[in-house]
Amino acid sequence: MNVSEIFLSIQGEGRTAGVVSVFVRLAGCDLRCAWCDTEYALDIKPAQSLTVEEIINRVETYPSRQVVVTGGEPLIAPELPMLLQELKKRDKYITLETNATRYHPIVCDLVNISPKLANSTPRQGPYAQFAETHEKNRLNIEAIKSFIINYDYQLKFVVESERDLSEIDAILKELPGVDRDRVMLMPQARTKQQYRKRGPEIARLCVEKGYRYSPRLQIELWSRRRGK
Ligand code: SF4
Repeated sequence: MNVSEIFLSIQGEGRTAGVVSVFVRLAGCDLRCAWCDTEYALDIKPAQSLTVEEIINRVETYPSRQVVVTGGEPLIAPELPMLLQELKKRDKYITLETNATRYHPIVCDLVNISPKLANSTPRQGPYAQFAETHEKNRLNIEAIKSFIINYDYQLKFVVESERDLSEIDAILKELPGVDRDRVMLMPQARTKQQYRKRGPEIARLCVEKGYRYSPRLQIELWSRRRGK
């Protein structure tokens, strides 16, 4: 499998924020978000090629039961189902982080579904050439529905401002009975300064709308340092 990094850290986002976890970051992604904070994992060229067994051996060198499989976009890896099965055999609590542009049945305890809003489309900058395909592929309502029906989940949106809320409302209308407590708004921020500036505004929107606020501890604590 194409692996960008494996490391022990603290989950920075979602309802398990703060929990010590082993991160398995797979390389490769089908999207190119304008504000992606893991650009180094988008391409498979710099990745290490490891077998499922080698990944499991590395994971087992860490004491944590919690394993976060992330990316890039993990679901594009054909060996992902096997990796998750092997982790489950070792009684790991698995969180899968996905942009949900596709659905495959997999073994997992919590799916962190993170559909990308229009604010993610790279209209300018280094990924501008991908804007059209990104816009076409970023939302797959049927895939999101399948995850919601079949798994314990949280639905996390990266939000820049109040303008994003109408798009979130429209997405939720297409989904089956999503409890607002499972819907999380997370500030779009690549730096500590951006996070601190935007965080209070996003928290205010959560209070008004009854959504849950997701922190971004990896930015707050380590400013996007790799392996953290
Ligand atoms: S889906 Fe995630 S990994 Fe892929 S480009 Fe967007 S933020 Fe980056």
